[in-house]
Amino acid sequence: MVEKLRIYNSLTKKKEVFEPLEPPFVGMYVCGPTVYSDVHLGNMRTFMSFDVVYRYLQYLGYKVRYVRNITDVGHLENDEDEGEDKISKKARLEHLEPMEIVQKYTNGFHDLTKIFNMLSPDIEPSATGHIVEQIEMTQALLNKGLAYETNGSVYFDVAKYNKDHNYGKLSGRNIEDMMESGRALTSQDEKHNNIDFALWKSASPEHIMRWNSPWGVGFPGWHLECSVMGTKYLGKTFDIHGGGLDLQFPHHECEIAQSVGTYGNDPVRYWMHTNMLTMNGQKMSKSLGNSFLPSELFTGNHPLLDEPYSPMTAKFFMLQSHYSSTLDFSNEALKASRKGYKKMINGLRLVKQMEFVEDGTERGEAVVGQIEKIIKACHSSMNDDFNTALTIGQLFNLLKKINSLHTGQLGFSAIGKEVFEKMKSTYIDFVENILALKEENPSDYKEMVEAMVAIYKEAKFRKDFERVDKIRAGLKANGIIVKDMKSGIEWAYEE
Ligand code: AMP
Ligand code: ZN
Repeated sequence: MVEKLRIYNSLTKKKEVFEPLEPPFVGMYVCGPTVYSDVHLGNMRTFMSFDVVYRYLQYLGYKVRYVRNITDVGHLENDEDEGEDKISKKARLEHLEPMEIVQKYTNGFHDLTKIFNMLSPDIEPSATGHIVEQIEMTQALLNKGLAYETNGSVYFDVAKYNKDHNYGKLSGRNIEDMMESGRALTSQDEKHNNIDFALWKSASPEHIMRWNSPWGVGFPGWHLECSVMGTKYLGKTFDIHGGGLDLQFPHHECEIAQSVGTYGNDPVRYWMHTNMLTMNGQKMSKSLGNSFLPSELFTGNHPLLDEPYSPMTAKFFMLQSHYSSTLDFSNEALKASRKGYKKMINGLRLVKQMEFVEDGTERGEAVVGQIEKIIKACHSSMNDDFNTALTIGQLFNLLKKINSLHTGQLGFSAIGKEVFEKMKSTYIDFVENILALKEENPSDYKEMVEAMVAIYKEAKFRKDFERVDKIRAGLKANGIIVKDMKSGIEWAYEE
């Protein structure tokens, strides 16, 4: 028996057996991008991690409703309650409609998710599409006495909430410490306390994105959208909520406070946080200026890049670490990932072509036991909090057995049809459907390689070795290795 799926819950700080509220249904909400500029590679690491979570839950037979929002209003500069709205500012600077900015970067994000072979969420709601609901939640919190209005803005009263609840339980922060270390308030401040946060902000005359509300013209605070959209599409309590670790505080802490304040119950059962992609140990971030765009990676057009790296190489690099560990970007690591990725894809090409043939070899219980153990380990690695790093290691172990079958070191009859088919489907499922790595070369490229290999075979048959060498060298220059196997001539990607 393979153990059940266990998830590290950032709320309880424990790995817990995953038990959805209403199996087989699973509700999963992931904070989406703020679409005021291109998403960088760090952002993609987070979204890719949740793509694997989504895929694996489906593989386990759950019916997942995956909601990932688009933040198109309310995210102010520096994640604070002061400063300009990121989208509004960009629209003003570029003389564009805010929705043109939103559309442009949403399209760019969607293109990237396709390039990285990620699935679309089931619902992708936007903050501006839920202004009415955000006004309603703000009103509900005012009615409960957990919010107050100042000059047309509404703030959440953290100290009052904390009398009956625990503000800081997700991030492990203490309210007194936060109050002390925060900025001292002046008489001009609208907040009662420096830890209070905006539910609704009054819009200054030059602020372009604005809506009518009971408190005047304004726009919603950033944290509110996720509480509202999570509740609307997944219910007052749902199973999984994810995002990057940098969103844990204040964003997710505020989400909990808003929902508990409004409905009296915790909104989320399992909080999941991905760790940061770093550059020389520092978080990759737009504001720190150390971020890469995926497009820069694919073209190699960046001073810190030795050469271009393909989307699947980058994906393999990300999946080779567990989502909860930091991952440091380096050219060396990416080069190693390219080798790893190619090895995995060569395995995929190979195993897809392999068919079971009775070859009369004697059944080997020991090797059958080893293969079954590896298959089990592929599952238990994923069940251990979606540990893609361990899973990749196990898939390479499985690949060793696949290669032994291919070279004839291991006989098909020695493992039997049933084990062979299980081994084949496990490898294909895990690589293609769970990790979602795919062969990158378009099929016409493969056809060209096949044609070259056919000419190679023919030249070899005619003993035209000059030609043979020329073709071999030409293919090698394009990353293709020709192999003379006992069973015939084959090609593979150079690892
Ligand atoms: P944003 O568009 O800034 O709201 O970020 C979108 C997502 O990317 C959020 O879940 C962030 O936590 C996540 N994120 C931001 N920087 C990084 C990074 N360097 N590594 C991994 N995830 C990140
Ligand atoms: Zn959010």
